[in-house]
Order: sequence, then C-alpha cells, then structure tokens
Amino acid sequence: MLFESTRQTSPAATVEEAIAAGLAPDGGLYVPQELPVLDIGRFDGVQTLPDVATRLLAPFFDGSTLAPALGAICSEAFDFPVPVVPFDDSTDVLELFHGPTAAFKDVGARFLAACMSRLPRADGRELTVLVATSGDTGAAVAAAFHGRPGLRVVILYPDGRVSARQAHQLGCFGGNVHALRVAGRFDDCQRMAKAALGDSWLNSQVPLTSANSISLGRLLPQMTYYAQASLAHWRATGTRINLVIPTGNLGNALAALWARAMGLPIGDVRLACNANRTLPDFFAGGAYRPREAVATLANAMDVGAPSNFERLMSLSHGRVEEARLAGFAEAVDDTEIADVIGRHAARYLFCPHTATAMKIRERMAQAGDRRRWTIVATAHPAKFDTVVEPLAARVVPVPDALAAMLERPSHAEPMAAEDAALREWLLQPSMASTASVLRTRPILGKMDSTAN
Ligand SMILES: *Cc1c(COP(=O)(O)O)cnc(C)c1O
Repeated sequence: MLFESTRQTSPAATVEEAIAAGLAPDGGLYVPQELPVLDIGRFDGVQTLPDVATRLLAPFFDGSTLAPALGAICSEAFDFPVPVVPFDDSTDVLELFHGPTAAFKDVGARFLAACMSRLPRADGRELTVLVATSGDTGAAVAAAFHGRPGLRVVILYPDGRVSARQAHQLGCFGGNVHALRVAGRFDDCQRMAKAALGDSWLNSQVPLTSANSISLGRLLPQMTYYAQASLAHWRATGTRINLVIPTGNLGNALAALWARAMGLPIGDVRLACNANRTLPDFFAGGAYRPREAVATLANAMDVGAPSNFERLMSLSHGRVEEARLAGFAEAVDDTEIADVIGRHAARYLFCPHTATAMKIRERMAQAGDRRRWTIVATAHPAKFDTVVEPLAARVVPVPDALAAMLERPSHAEPMAAEDAALREWLLQPSMASTASVLRTRPILGKMDSTAN
C-alpha cells in the first residue's frame, strides 16, 4: 500500500517512508491512497488488542520491511488493557488511559516508537523526534522513546498552560529526552515544530521527524481500540457502537472515522470539543476558520487549528458537506466540564477532557436520544488532580506508573515562541547549559508546583 499527501504534490510514499517522515515534503499529511475495506469475518476468533491490531493494520504494512515484525510491534506497543466500563443503562466508557503516562496518547506513541526503532537508518545518524504537545503527547512520546538507541526526543510545550503533573512528567525523563517550555501557546509550539520539520536544510544537518498527531504512525494504531471495542459490541449486541470522542487536533476521532470507513461496526460518531469552537462552527455549517486557541480546563484540547482537519477533508473527498456528515462536533464550556466532574464524582471520576464527552452524551439523552453510547475516556483524572480534586471534593488515586514518574526530579529549558529559537537550539552541537535549566522537585501529593 502507498500513502499520498493531503496536498497531493508529494510523491507517493511507502508506510516506512510516511512514518519516518512525519509530514509530507509538500507540508501535507500522509493518508492511505485508498482505505482498505475489511470483512468483519477476518476478525473471527480474534479478541486481544494486539491480535485485532495485527489483522487490522496488516494491509497498511503489506509489502513493507516492517510487515514481518507487525505482530511483534503490536504486542510490544499494546501491552496494557483498554477496557469498556459500564457507566449506566445506556452509557459505557472506553478507557484509553491505562498506559504508562495515563492518557490515550500512549497507544500511538508506543506503536510509533516500536516502528521507528525497527526502521533502518541509512546514514546511521541520530534521529530527532520533534513533538509539540499540549500536555499528554509529549509525555507519551518521551516514555515510549526513552532510552532507545539512535533516537532522541525534543518536546515543545506551552509554559504554564499544562497541568503541574503534566509539566513534571514532560521533564522527568532526562537521557535522550529534552523538554523545552515555550513562552507561548500550543499553536506556537505546533507552528515551530512544523517550521523545523519543513526546513530541508535544517533536516540535512539534524535529521528530524515528527511524533505529533499528524504522524501516520500514531493514527494507524489509534484505529485498533475502536476496532476491538466495536467488534466486541457487535458480537455482544448485534449493533454498531456509537461513540462520543473528546477532540482537539482531530487525531483520535479521525482514527474512529477511518476504522468505520474500513468496514468496522461503528455507528454514529460525535465529537466533543471544549470552548475552542473551530470544529463546532464548521460542523454547524460555518466556514472552516482556524483561530487562536483559548485556554480551558480540558487543556489537551486547547486547539484552534486542528492539524488533522486536512485528513478529514481528504476522507470526505474534499467535499465540505460530506465532511460534515462524518460526525458532528459540539462545544462544551468550562462551567459544564466542572459540573459534570462534580456531579458524577461519587460514581465515576472524569478527567476534564472525558467530561466534555459525557456532557454531549447527556445533551443527547435530554434531547430524547434513547440509543446506547460509548464515551471515550482519554486521560486518567489523576493527571488533572488540581482541576478534578476540588470539584470532586475527594482525592484522586494515582496510578502506579504515574506515581513513579512524579517521584523523579524534573527539568525543562525555557524557549521563546519563535521558529528561529528552535532552529538555533537544534543546531547547537551540545545541549544547552544547565544554567538555563529550570529544576523542580518531585511533586507527588502536592496541589501546586513550580513547574507551572
Ligand atoms: C490529546 C488529547 C485529546 C485530544 O486528542 P486529539 O487527537 O488531538 O483530538 C483529548 N484528551 C486528552 C486527555 C488528550 O491528551
């Protein structure tokens, strides 16, 4: 199978090339030339996530040097549970947060790392994985690539706009992982990363690749939990699973739309956004108008220019009306997020992102929708303790892997929100002086931190 750029002016690429490159040379995003359509029978008797994943992803890797290793890659990457937990009579929660950094980004990051560490690098030079993060991506990528030979990770995050625990996680790895705290917003970080990745001279000096949600190596694996959940739902009920998905850059939701287009038994898909209205306005009939992100309680979704929008348009053959039919996006504001977290705290602790999906589910129920819905839980609430604990009026238990990270020291370097600053940093022969490094103490159990 070959992959083409959403902008259609780059040559078609193999899966290895698309995964290694991140962004296509013309600045577009890689999409399969044609999505394979699979017969559900192909999954008969297949139940575990690694096994479902191997069957689902085989056509994308057909003919590639990674094909023989696909089973091993899937077993290595998908080594934690992704359970569907009943919430009430007509609502289930698909919990994607049982990986090492307690957010769904672990799934894509671990698969990407498992692929990249198996890709041959012709010149033997170190490859730098550049990642702009609104919080969770950076930690997942850092955890997945930490200690892998020949690879280093450079994380850009908006200083003061991620939770204290997120900031701590980003800086706690050390070794081949470098955290840069940018004096700007997530969109600045994303722009800086894109500029560096698109700079061919810079790439000739410092080989770069992306691990953002624009990376094909993250999108493909995100289809797998939708495949597994939809097949289990189909076997149990004979009906298609309906999904409400918290959405920022449209990566997680696009994976569900791709899985549905491949023939998996997925019914309606609704996108839950926070107060950033770019997608809700588009789905309500407005023009697609990227804008500056506003800060919300669901900070990993503070995106004003969703990077995977180009892939949604490509899936919809460039037709706006068709794209609007793929799902429907609604905005949920901070007051509603807080209300959902507080109101359900005795029964279930929602992270602020998952709370947006729960709110949409509630709105549909109020509007008389009697169908069963599965809301997608994208992070563990313990990652957002400073938001969740006061609203829930109780302590959120911290998963073991997260607790271990919070016990390590953490550091990040400051950076101006300018493309040139990142370029310069990447070109410097040695790492920045320790004088400019912000150090923070372990924060486990504390409600605030100097990391913010
Ligand atoms: C990244 C993230 C999202 C948004 O995912 P997209 O793929 O950007 O739409 C939602 N919730 C959490 C917790 C996240 O980390």
